[in-house]
Amino acid sequence: MLKRIAILGSTGSIGTQALDVVRANSDRFSVQVLTAQDNAALLVEQAAEFRPGTVVIGNEAHFDFVKSSLATLGIQVYAGAQALVPVVEGDDIDIVLTAMVGYAGLLPTIHAIKAGKDIALANKETLVVAGQLITDLARLHNVKIYPVDSEHSAIFQCLTGEDGNPIEKIILTASGGPFRGKDKAFLSNVTKQQALKHPNWSMGAKITIDSATLMNKGLEVIEAKWLFDLAPEQIEVVVHPQSIIHSLVQFEDGSMKAQMGLPDMKLPIQYALHYPQRLKSGFPRFNFLDYPALTFEMPDLETFRNLAIAYDVLRKGGNAACIINAANEIAVEAFLGERIRFLDISDVIVESLARIDFILNPSYSDYVETNEATRRIASELIQVKV
Ligand code: NAD
Ligand code: MG
Repeated sequence: MLKRIAILGSTGSIGTQALDVVRANSDRFSVQVLTAQDNAALLVEQAAEFRPGTVVIGNEAHFDFVKSSLATLGIQVYAGAQALVPVVEGDDIDIVLTAMVGYAGLLPTIHAIKAGKDIALANKETLVVAGQLITDLARLHNVKIYPVDSEHSAIFQCLTGEDGNPIEKIILTASGGPFRGKDKAFLSNVTKQQALKHPNWSMGAKITIDSATLMNKGLEVIEAKWLFDLAPEQIEVVVHPQSIIHSLVQFEDGSMKAQMGLPDMKLPIQYALHYPQRLKSGFPRFNFLDYPALTFEMPDLETFRNLAIAYDVLRKGGNAACIINAANEIAVEAFLGERIRFLDISDVIVESLARIDFILNPSYSDYVETNEATRRIASELIQVKV
């Protein structure tokens, strides 16, 4: 039986690697839905190859092009953000891979869960924004959330076979990004080009900047809380520049399990899509002798404030993580547009957090309002800095 997948964000880094996995395992998977925001040409190319039933292009300006390009193939074509919601609900879908970036992942994920679809979750922002709501809904609808993020996949793999054995703590590894070891004086002048050069991974622009500011690790700490039901004190971060150990679990007897390998997102993607069976792959294998020194150091929370901010909001709960996520999205966009400087990103987040009302038990509409209000405030704060 083919596993039938909907891929949201198929033209991005995760989306294209997911399609590599499907291409290499065409006897296991079929693609039912493909969606993209702007890259209409690649979306059309993917649709012609994988023949999904449905395609959505987010940017409505490209609708005519996509529609006419796919006219002879019998593929349904829709455009606009609203179209993302119903396409995840089809009877012909077993699992939805959320590979779009940012807050935009929240609503389609909610609908997919309500329709009983399992989730292969790459879009960590969904759990950061509304982890309580998402995990409650998943329980209610008996839906599984399989992590795609490499650290969380590592933990998930370490937990396999450990039913009933409590976790003492988890240790998320961090590469440290391109600015590991640098001080604030250095960071005050770094350019967008420097920040976009990640040492170990090739990823979309937003997550690459998040890796440089350590916000990515902060978002992952919050993501881990919701995926594995942990208290903040049970989640540690260690910097491991080689990115070979993808994360670890420590159990109550003191034993630690780690998952290792060369950095390649295709592995966690296919593990999430095909759990619990592993698929044979030709990915390059790790060799200890190529890495005689695996090293570890503490993250510098004073220089890279975003990780400290993420721990604070994790302890605070409510809509606090939704606020920092929205402020971060706006700040990263402004940094990529060269409207603010690298260290301004944390300032925008801290100031937004101070200005938006805290809500302890947010409803879905509270999250929507928090997100919108924070984007407005963060944009105003950026105007002042320009
Ligand atoms: P990307 O920028 O390369 O791709 C994003 C995809 O989402 C594209 O297909 C784009 O068309 C689509 N998209 C963008 N804005 C959208 C919107 N508003 N609505 C709908 N679709 C939209 O990003 P990526 O690096 O593939 O990351 C995707 C998600 O996976 C992010 O949440 C990221 O944090 C997470 N993730 C990525 C990696 C990685 O290695 N790239 C690793 C772990 C987690
Ligand atoms: Mg990660």
